[in-house]
Amino acid sequence: MKDKIYRFSPYFIKVILLNWIAFLNYRKRNTSGYSMYLKQYIASWQLDFEEINRNQSKELKLLLKEVYNYSSYYQNFFKINNITIADIENDPRNVLNRLPLLSKADRRTFSKEILNNNPKRKLIEIGYTSGTSGSPTENYLDQESIDRSFALWSRFHETIGIKKGMKSIRFSGRLIVNPEQKVKPFWVYNYFDKQLLMSTYHLTERNILDYINKINKFSPHFLDGYPSALYIIANFAIKNDIKLKCNPIAITTTAETLYDYQRIIIEDFFQCKVYNQYASSEGSPFITECKNGSLHVNMDSGVFEFLNRKDKFAIPGEIARMVVTSFRNLKTPLIRYDILDTVILSKQMDCGCGCKMPIIEKIIGREDDILWTEEKGYVGRMDTAYKGLEGIVQSQIIQLTPNKVIIRNVIDNSYTNDIEIKFKKNLMDRLGSNIELKFEYVDSIPLGKNGKFEAVKRKFIIHDSSNI
Ligand SMILES: [Zn+2]
Repeated sequence: MKDKIYRFSPYFIKVILLNWIAFLNYRKRNTSGYSMYLKQYIASWQLDFEEINRNQSKELKLLLKEVYNYSSYYQNFFKINNITIADIENDPRNVLNRLPLLSKADRRTFSKEILNNNPKRKLIEIGYTSGTSGSPTENYLDQESIDRSFALWSRFHETIGIKKGMKSIRFSGRLIVNPEQKVKPFWVYNYFDKQLLMSTYHLTERNILDYINKINKFSPHFLDGYPSALYIIANFAIKNDIKLKCNPIAITTTAETLYDYQRIIIEDFFQCKVYNQYASSEGSPFITECKNGSLHVNMDSGVFEFLNRKDKFAIPGEIARMVVTSFRNLKTPLIRYDILDTVILSKQMDCGCGCKMPIIEKIIGREDDILWTEEKGYVGRMDTAYKGLEGIVQSQIIQLTPNKVIIRNVIDNSYTNDIEIKFKKNLMDRLGSNIELKFEYVDSIPLGKNGKFEAVKRKFIIHDSSNI
């Protein structure tokens, strides 16, 4: 309803509505609880590993005790598995391992039973996340969950030099202005967070210069949002020899997989470092990139388990599926939640930034965004197939069957036949020689759900389990 009113309102009403919501959110987020958690999280960023580990056990114990008392879904499992409160007190990690994985389908079906009914946890907000099967999943939040989430977010910013109150630009999938709108403004200013929200649905060649001029005029301290949107702007600017006239200190990316080729172009144009992070809107714990460019598992935000396809612990170099237990979603507890996002584990233990939390080599993205062929198994990093290829403005790889792949490209005039031959070879090197590749050249590639750009999409389910 709220979205409908917003969508059909004229621009100046949009500004008022958006700022009204922003004001309510601002009040909800800037609490004493938030300040307390922020202090705590900043302190724990530099703790010794043993201490972080001890704190994690303590938090886990609190979480398990709470669901033991207040969540009928978990009470049921504890009963079936003969787990007592004393077991949780003695060894919470052991209890965690004895609990089953929570699938996405179960999270949706049993959302009422999973809910934490502790009377102290009053419902403040219901978030919705779009599920892959169409029906949105509800996410109930209490004040502590909101405080912790924003404190973790702010801690990430602190660790990379972004201070509270700095001006920013955000590119997200929200419909800031009408999709049909042909002329600027393609943005709305949020006064309370000093944040200019820019639409990701209007980034056509004829509009990008307007975007760049606005970025220059606004002169943000940092930018955040979908890497695909930032990349489109940066790529256009570099191609057309347009220089940035402001000096942002950082760029943070979210929601989509960040590819290496995007990072290079974005950093080149904006002349600052890109920091990647992982934290789902479903309330998962965080993975954030540090000053030294390492992705640290935020152990104080939850417990990550990294499993391979056989549900065994993954080893460094392997594509690992994450199973998460969150300390920031207390009203809707997530315990051993099979979130279906994947990473590659790292061999590296310490990056020298001062944070001793474990390091991830790469965030790959959703499990169904990873290509799979009989010859090669999982192929998780398609961005390397674009190395050295000129003239590709946008590209999308869609795998229809184990041996049929469509590559949709938006190209400019520097793209040649030789590049297509090279591209084909790069793809075959990665996907195997038995693969049928079909190249399509299009004017534009439509955005997926929530305005996200889907660079890689697999359209079938893998039945073979012999692979990793
Ligand atoms: Zn680090």
